[in-house]
Amino acid sequence: MWLRPDAITVWRHPEVRERLAWYRAVMLDEKPAKFRICKHVGVDEEPEAVRAMSESELWGLHDKLSREFKQVKARIEDGSLSLEELEKPRTSLLSLKVELAKRMLRACRFCVRRCGVNRAEGEKGFCGLGQEARVSTFFHHFGEEAPLLGGAGHPVGGSGTIFFTSCNLRCCFCQNYDISFYPENGVVVDARKLAAIEAELRREGAANINFVGGEPTPNLHVILGSMEYLELNVPMLWNSNMLCSEETMKLLVDVIDIWLPDFKFGNNECAERLTSGGIDYVGTVLKNHKVALENGDMIIRHLVMPSHIECCTKRVLDMIANELDKDRVLVNIMGQYRPMHYVARWPEKWPDIARRPSSQEMHETFEYARQLGIVFEPIS
Ligand code: SF4
Repeated sequence: MWLRPDAITVWRHPEVRERLAWYRAVMLDEKPAKFRICKHVGVDEEPEAVRAMSESELWGLHDKLSREFKQVKARIEDGSLSLEELEKPRTSLLSLKVELAKRMLRACRFCVRRCGVNRAEGEKGFCGLGQEARVSTFFHHFGEEAPLLGGAGHPVGGSGTIFFTSCNLRCCFCQNYDISFYPENGVVVDARKLAAIEAELRREGAANINFVGGEPTPNLHVILGSMEYLELNVPMLWNSNMLCSEETMKLLVDVIDIWLPDFKFGNNECAERLTSGGIDYVGTVLKNHKVALENGDMIIRHLVMPSHIECCTKRVLDMIANELDKDRVLVNIMGQYRPMHYVARWPEKWPDIARRPSSQEMHETFEYARQLGIVFEPIS
């Protein structure tokens, strides 16, 4: 706690308590995490019968159970139902999700790149990952946003952060490039081992399990699989660039308690120039933010880049205010950008971002966010 006293004081803000109410309740073990509810929603079919279904049949069943899940979760949230009153079905919604992720791996479409490669047979797509997930490191992270560290009655145990290797976006200024650009770094983890890591982090006081990278999306099958083995209660946090495919979002919305998405670029031209490109960045990320917000608590991260206040920062803030629900999200406006990776090596190629943002640019950003009514001050 002495490291981050704001982990205690942040919960005094009514907006933080209201907007992160579900996450806080799970963190404090007052409510079960969504992945645990998923284990109690399902069908009394034998797992073998479900595995024999076609993928479209599986999606049909998944979507039906996902609707059922939302009703059950709403009753658990309002206190009219408890997890203990529910039986465990022979085939749960969670196990269906794991099966669907395995099927998707055979023609990978975990993210919008939709490479279509058979990763189950070792083929590799844009992210460079085959069947195996690799973890670069994991630890109790005390540098994350204050509500993610604990507090509100929970020990300030930090965010139980698990860093997966590789990334499907690859920004030229990547602040984490040793993890993002080298898929073969780290150690291989399967679902059971990942669950053991998650359990260890929670037992040692982590406020949540924070899936990050690199990027967690290419590791979806192992992440969902780990939840089948995990018996502890802990909020699940998705810390992502949000290039998830539509199918991936459908698998995630019933298991993620709190979203920590990046919203970096305000237009596709800047995204194309500053990343590996080839995608509709704004369309994808905005759509996925909308889906995520309908299905959980959310802190959006925006990294302010120098010279990109008008084209990126203000446009992102406009989209948050006008196209998402600014009365439900919290925003972390981050001023720690510095030229890294390719930009540090070849600053002449990206002169616009070859410096830190100025105090004038940060001031202008904060003023603009205030005018829009965005809540960022308790978090940033
Ligand atoms: S996760 Fe994305 S980048 Fe990686 S193989 Fe699948 S679709 Fe391609």
